[in-house]
Amino acid sequence: MSEQAEIGVIGGSGFYSFLEDVTEVTVDTPYGAPSDSLFLGEIDGRRVAFLPRHGRKHHLPPHRINYRANMWALRSAGVRQVLGPCAVGGLREEHGPGTLLIPDQLVDRTKTRVQTYFDGEALPDGSIPNVVHLTFADPYCEAGRQACLSAAQDHGWAAVDGGTLCVVEGPRFSTRAESRWHAAQGWSVVGMTGHPEAALARELGLCYASLTLVTDLDAGAETGEGVSHEEVLRVFGENVGRLRNVLFDAVGKLPVERSCGCSESLGGLDPGIELP
Ligand SMILES: [Zn+2]
Repeated sequence: MSEQAEIGVIGGSGFYSFLEDVTEVTVDTPYGAPSDSLFLGEIDGRRVAFLPRHGRKHHLPPHRINYRANMWALRSAGVRQVLGPCAVGGLREEHGPGTLLIPDQLVDRTKTRVQTYFDGEALPDGSIPNVVHLTFADPYCEAGRQACLSAAQDHGWAAVDGGTLCVVEGPRFSTRAESRWHAAQGWSVVGMTGHPEAALARELGLCYASLTLVTDLDAGAETGEGVSHEEVLRVFGENVGRLRNVLFDAVGKLPVERSCGCSESLGGLDPGIELP
């Protein structure tokens, strides 16, 4: 596929339906089909590819999303910087519904997801690719994080700068004991989709930043009935408009020339697979 976008946004029609001239492009990958087509549009003169993470009908639960295909599809369209908004539960009282938090750390508590492109399988020519252990101490692109924070500030939304996103397998929400344990670790928010997106982005040399919107207080952080899907959808719906505004502004603030080091993530290693 020829280069058609430079920035990727992993989010559905709630984000791109307000753009003019959206072009739908289907992409296949060596890892299977991504969640949906790419929807290409332009924001502030930048070409953006939107990919509905759960599919346009929201039929893919978090553990069924083909994360490898999604990130590969974005890269093959030319994307080098990715913004991944997601709905999360707050693990602290001060991170109540409507909080926007731009994490700087994540904890992986998923169980079934393939989180690497470099899994040691023999290539079609019989050669065995290198085993690659990438540096992942800081999982997010700092330039991307700063673009998100600056955009939020411009819209009067006091985003929380930094914090730890705990990614659980789902699709169920946490028990009270799990939630209390997550909070006791000092983690900030809990979600189901931020990983392995971040790790796969790093393997592909992509910049990746996450915008987490708190839709509820997690089960251990409140005393009510616990999290319900209806409540999550209601709060997300109330905030999707201003999240879209922040996202669009963040796109315009992403650096045109990358100097953050994300593109050098392989550090000269030859992983044995050719990136698109
Ligand atoms: Zn970067």
